[in-house]
Amino acid sequence: MSKKTIKDVNLTGKTVLLRADFNVPLNASLEITDDNRIKAELDTIKYILDQKAKLVVFSHLGKVKTDEDKKTKSLQPVANRLSELLGQDVKFCPETRGEKLESLVKELKDSEVLLVQNTRFEKGETKNDEELGKYWSSLGDIFVNDAFGTAHRKHASNVGISNNLEAVSGFLIEKEIKFLGSVESAERPLVAILGGAKVSDKIAVIENLIDKADKIIIGGGMMFTFLKAMGKNIGKSLVEDDKLDLAKEIIKKAAEKEVDLLIPVDTVVASEFSNDAAFKTVSVDEIPDDMMGLDIGQKTLDMFREELSSAHTVIWNGPMGVFEMSNFAKGTIGVLETLASLKNAVTIIGGGDSAAAAIKNGHRESFTHISTGGGASLVYLEGKELPGITAIADK
Ligand code: ADP
Ligand code: MG
Repeated sequence: MSKKTIKDVNLTGKTVLLRADFNVPLNASLEITDDNRIKAELDTIKYILDQKAKLVVFSHLGKVKTDEDKKTKSLQPVANRLSELLGQDVKFCPETRGEKLESLVKELKDSEVLLVQNTRFEKGETKNDEELGKYWSSLGDIFVNDAFGTAHRKHASNVGISNNLEAVSGFLIEKEIKFLGSVESAERPLVAILGGAKVSDKIAVIENLIDKADKIIIGGGMMFTFLKAMGKNIGKSLVEDDKLDLAKEIIKKAAEKEVDLLIPVDTVVASEFSNDAAFKTVSVDEIPDDMMGLDIGQKTLDMFREELSSAHTVIWNGPMGVFEMSNFAKGTIGVLETLASLKNAVTIIGGGDSAAAAIKNGHRESFTHISTGGGASLVYLEGKELPGITAIADK
């Protein structure tokens, strides 16, 4: 389903409410240590300002449980940084409701920006409190949702406002929908690469993709549950014994649907979960009792590379090994490099750790799309609805 975007509506002279994702990391001195999320929102903001609209921006920042948390979770540093990046004044309202906010909104002139304090300062935000959604929506004429990272949640500042105002997507959500939502109409062969820590985190993703993909590549910690289900000894590797039947079922289902399920043939094993531990590569038939598998091996990587070479669409979720430790990062880096070298394929990365691994290894620009929403992208790959996106008007 195609969703309305800011390009489909007239914004001129209107007061536009924008839900952005400015959930940036702050250090102890409350300085922003990574401003990528602010930079990523500039295109949408500039477009709205170019239409001569008055812009009111909402975002959350971190978790706010107590009044004490409010001291360190103010959006004031974001207002300052946004102002520097935009090269224009950004007004800041330290309150989330009341006269001050209302008069700041009223005083806005065309092409001016106001940032509202952290939406989570309101208890009703995460409960999608009806009154709060109505109140915020009363401040503007139209709502632009561009916060993909919270699209899988029903909060007042996304779904709540959308229930009371016409809602359209900004450029970031438009891009997420375009690529993550393209699975149905993807060019074939479609290969899904699934890894990460646990099978249990990815059951719904596997079940959704098994109906859609031509090949499914399995790596990461969850490969050992599959290997054990196949009757192999996995030593001290990560395993979910209560998911062995499920793994068997997935293997059977893949065969029935004629989906190639590719399971590693070798693994890098270590005596301990540590980068200092002794390690070696062994066949999956020879995993020693006292060792654990922390990465895929070279033979497996070569096999995956071969299988990926003819892909026209690749969806990747979940690292191939414990990529945070250099000795066990080769499988993940090898797959990243393979994907980056594919010339005629659409390559999509979803999942917080997978995106982090790609960026950490210098591949920010190597793929068609790296999703910015960890949790939200998983829900999308599970084939489920995201309330924040459902609430956006259809084209
Ligand atoms: P994503 O956030 O991309 O969805 P996950 O959160 O599912 O990915 O998985 C990422 C984590 O999986 C990483 O922290 C990584 O260290 C871990 N992991 C990968 N392979 C293994 C393994 N063999 N044993 C233990 N943990 C693993
Ligand atoms: Mg993760």
